[in-house]
Amino acid sequence: MRDVIVLGSTGSIGRQTLSVCRNLGYRVTAIAAGSNVELMEQQIREFRPLIAAVADESKAADLKTRVADTGTKVLSGENGICEAAVCRYGDIVLSAIVGIAGLRPTAEAIKSKKDIALANKETLVTAGHIIMPMAKEYGVKILPVDSEHSAVFQSLTGNKNNKIKSIILTASGGPFFGYSKEQLRNVTVSQALKHPSWSMGAKITIDSATMMNKGLEIIEAAHLFDVDVDDIQVVIHRESILHSAAEYEDNSIIGQMGVPDMRTAIQYAFTYPKRCASEVKRLNFAELGKMTFYAPNDSVFPAMSLCREAFKRGGNAPAVLNGANEAAVGLFLNGKIGFTDITKAVKDTLYNINFKSADTIEAVLEADKEARSYVSDLG
Ligand code: NAD
Ligand code: MG
Repeated sequence: MRDVIVLGSTGSIGRQTLSVCRNLGYRVTAIAAGSNVELMEQQIREFRPLIAAVADESKAADLKTRVADTGTKVLSGENGICEAAVCRYGDIVLSAIVGIAGLRPTAEAIKSKKDIALANKETLVTAGHIIMPMAKEYGVKILPVDSEHSAVFQSLTGNKNNKIKSIILTASGGPFFGYSKEQLRNVTVSQALKHPSWSMGAKITIDSATMMNKGLEIIEAAHLFDVDVDDIQVVIHRESILHSAAEYEDNSIIGQMGVPDMRTAIQYAFTYPKRCASEVKRLNFAELGKMTFYAPNDSVFPAMSLCREAFKRGGNAPAVLNGANEAAVGLFLNGKIGFTDITKAVKDTLYNINFKSADTIEAVLEADKEARSYVSDLG
């Protein structure tokens, strides 16, 4: 039995998390989301959390009226989200708000000594150098929910004293795998939103199309597993069956496989180190037939190199890169800039904003703001 707090409950990961909680019979003690109060009402009626926080202040009154008969306390704004994150009846927080908006609530949850099942990769991308030591200081576990990182985490289990040679992150390649630079220039928003193997929120789907998602995951893995970015390889694997792997000193590679379904990673973060029966489909190798692997094309998709560079620079650079990307993806989704302009905007911002250290959450949020304002001038 666990008491779970779900941040980002109305999103793709949030909804799948509630489905895992339903299946395992876990209590959900608090939920938090952006603005979808219709869905929040349904979630409140089913799970009866103590707290429900909605980020959009203008929606709070509506939500309060909707659930007045339930006994759930409705909060709003960023402070309300943070209050949900530290709800005293909660021993693990599933962090699945999209973007840097997830950073502060996740940090607050760590300070209140709750384990973190982390889907929100932007938290580690922008502030891994603060969050990982913070987790150590407060004695909490950071359990990866990103499928690749969950796979690496599973591949490291039982090998505590064995040195790893590299981490191998697999990437589906997104909808534009094999495209040339010229072909990429004219792709539309609806083409970019069609991911070949995963159904996810809009921001991460666009990140998968630009390969920025894999770049962010390189930084995320470097923090989680304390490895050099140069020891993290990326390989394109179209079928999304091998979710990632670790390579050991003897050149053995241990990976984790299964059908592409985020509920596996969500559930493992909850039940670790145990495994439980799941609703996820079984993988049938004979039906699958084959798995294919390709090298990524860094000249067509430069986002991964930018991420490696930002990580090596450190300081405010990863937060600047991430903020620029969030802003540029927003402009692309609103039809203000083209697809290839996203990575170009990230690169321009990274090279034009002065390098600084960013040793506090406030400094990271400041770097994020600076990057967003630089990009908004481009739109
Ligand atoms: P989504 O867009 O489907 O959902 C985002 C959730 O965050 C929603 O509940 C939304 O209401 C909430 N939200 C947005 N802004 C907020 C704010 N300011 N305050 C509070 N809540 C806010 O996104 P998603 O696909 O579920 O992804 C969530 C996170 O998980 C992202 O960081 C993503 O990179 C990561 N992730 C997702 C997947 C996936 O399969 N979807 C896989 C790996 C990692
Ligand atoms: Mg992933």
